Amino acid sequence: MKSTKNLWRRRGVYLHNLFTNISQDYIKLYYIINIIIKNAEETDMIDIALIGTGGMVPLQNRYLTSMAARLNGSMLLIDCGEGTQVTLKQLGWGFKNLDYICITHFHADHLAGLPGLLLTVGNSGRTEPLTIVGLTGIKNIVGHLRVIAPELPFEIKFVELPPVETSCILGEYNISVLPLDHRIYCFGYALKINRTGKFDAGRAKQQEIPVKFWSKLQNGETIEDGDKKYAPDMVLGPARKGIKVAYITDTRPTDSIPQFISGADLFICEGLYGDDEKKSKAEEHMHMVFSEAADLAKKGEVKEMWLTHYSPAMTSPEEYIKTAQNIFPNTKLGYDRLNTTIVFEEK
Ligand SMILES: [Zn+2]
Ligand SMILES: [Zn+2]
Repeated sequence: MKSTKNLWRRRGVYLHNLFTNISQDYIKLYYIINIIIKNAEETDMIDIALIGTGGMVPLQNRYLTSMAARLNGSMLLIDCGEGTQVTLKQLGWGFKNLDYICITHFHADHLAGLPGLLLTVGNSGRTEPLTIVGLTGIKNIVGHLRVIAPELPFEIKFVELPPVETSCILGEYNISVLPLDHRIYCFGYALKINRTGKFDAGRAKQQEIPVKFWSKLQNGETIEDGDKKYAPDMVLGPARKGIKVAYITDTRPTDSIPQFISGADLFICEGLYGDDEKKSKAEEHMHMVFSEAADLAKKGEVKEMWLTHYSPAMTSPEEYIKTAQNIFPNTKLGYDRLNTTIVFEEK
């Protein structure tokens, strides 16, 4: 009788251990699957589009200079002149996901389109806050513009920046800002998409880091477990090369621009005039000719340059493209809705 009891007890302990092990294995499997899913879901690209490419006044087929980026379903716009919403609609990226608008400076051709665009974003059903970035004073200016667009179904947040080289983070966009040399304060922008190293399960196992902490470490969290501390760099490989896009418009060339745009995958730059003979006019109006933009691209060792912000008087920018390409061969003439997808180099 006694031995039967013991037998059942032993069987009970065996079954208990078995189920405990199985459930622990399932939990481990769950964490590992999460890691695999996260690796697979990682954004590996950003879309960039020129929304308009004109300076001063919008023309038929050449709206005012503006660019848009789209990353992981979050859209960012730089500048919003008159008619920006028209060409943005033609691009077909929609309005609801517009999370951020960065303004270079307070000239009408770069922000007079805001009230109409904000109303359209409202009509698209957006209710989440939208952030507007610009020089200190942007909140006041947008407040005045909103006299004609008072009711919006979303909140507007502001990031007001001082006129110095600075940076801010907008979701997954790391924004750098550079003061330029225009008739009024003007900012150049660089968007950087950073990328951490890949999760190394082998290293995590080697260091006996409990599987339940893996995905937290992968997300950059540091874990304290009793007297043990686990940091992301214990399990993440070296940081992988990110993506950089620079946007410089309404300025004379400056000494700090090459460093600011250095190594950009894409450099979007103004060229109000194509002809080198217009250089004195460019100096007078605080703008650039194509060859000056190309000189910056060369010094900054960027991969590719797109020209934009053409004078309305320049009907055929293609006549002057060689003046830029002779200095920086990988120059393209921007046109409305020219777009590209930039993919991370390292998988
Ligand atoms: Zn302008
Ligand atoms: Zn301007």
